[in-house]
Amino acid sequence: MKVLFNDLTYQNNIVKPEILEIFKESFHRSVFIGGIWVQEFEEKFAAYIGVRHCIGVGNCTDALELILEGLGIGHGDEVIVPAYSWISTAACVKRVGATPVFVDVHPDSYTMDPELLDKNINSKTKGIITVHFYGQSADMDAIGGIANKYNINIIEDCAQASGSLYKDNKVGSIGIAGAFSFYPTKNLGAFGDGGCVTTNSDELAHRIRLLANHGLKDRNQHVLLGRNSRLDSLQAKILEIKLNYLNEWNELRISAAKQYLSGLQGSRIKLPKVLPQTKHIFHLYVVQVENRKEVINFLDEKGIHTAIHYPIPIPETKPFPQGNDQSSKYPVSARMSGCILSLPIFPGITEDQIEFTCDAILEAISVS
Ligand SMILES: *Cc1c(COP(=O)(O)O)cnc(C)c1O
Repeated sequence: MKVLFNDLTYQNNIVKPEILEIFKESFHRSVFIGGIWVQEFEEKFAAYIGVRHCIGVGNCTDALELILEGLGIGHGDEVIVPAYSWISTAACVKRVGATPVFVDVHPDSYTMDPELLDKNINSKTKGIITVHFYGQSADMDAIGGIANKYNINIIEDCAQASGSLYKDNKVGSIGIAGAFSFYPTKNLGAFGDGGCVTTNSDELAHRIRLLANHGLKDRNQHVLLGRNSRLDSLQAKILEIKLNYLNEWNELRISAAKQYLSGLQGSRIKLPKVLPQTKHIFHLYVVQVENRKEVINFLDEKGIHTAIHYPIPIPETKPFPQGNDQSSKYPVSARMSGCILSLPIFPGITEDQIEFTCDAILEAISVS
């Protein structure tokens, strides 16, 4: 049996008739940037997340940068970020000229450890970027409490968490702004790159719209130094269609995670924990195994594809020279990077595929 790490066939088959119609319609319309399709998606996604504004942009990396720029964060400022995430979470800080300050993640939740915030905050700290990692919300009450105490904005990196909840709130509606990715394999994926910013701040929304579109106020008036980062009309329409299925598809991921739990619990493998105040939507199903290399090879030979998110904590990557011995500063991230393994999970993965994967893992750890 073959088990791909991520297979979009199920999703694609469901939306195919609707999207083929859209392709046809776009020939007649010839509106490829902006227009009603982008506006409709923005309104629908803002309502879904529960915020006043959604601004479609080129991708989530741009969304994060635009939020920082929109908040006026730059040279001389510090922004706290988790040491363990996709590189964009920290790269955006450096790209706007500010300094990322790394904190470790919590060993249970894999999200930013709120206990470590206080001692990393000083008068230069202008923001905290929380990542709702693997599809589970960070501990927003604890992080929010500290952010309020020091009057610092929280920016939510929601790239892996479209539809995820903290208590009754969708992530992306809790901090000053949220950044979403519509990269094809994310929970809500386009047919190419795409992203958006969500916010309840009228002022920030206004600034980000300007920044993302050449600083253009009307056709010929550039009121600030902007750039070009826009969501294509076709991608917006595809996203608008796929958003109708997002809750259903997230539930399928949750069911798959439940089956992994029952298939693997009691073994030596460390399984993901779901915190009581969150709704984890399992963008990724990440376990920890000893002898990871052997397990990966064993699974691969059986036709089961896995992945590692991520093999290197951000402070140890080349763009963030921090000096030697980073692992002692971020022990959880360092340990995780050596033993985490992402198992196949996607809407449409079958019970047989999960059972086959669980059996293969149990066999792999018993022989290794
Ligand atoms: C995917 C991802 C991003 C970047 O999203 P793009 O749309 O590819 O720019 C940022 N942060 C996290 C946590 C991600 O997983």
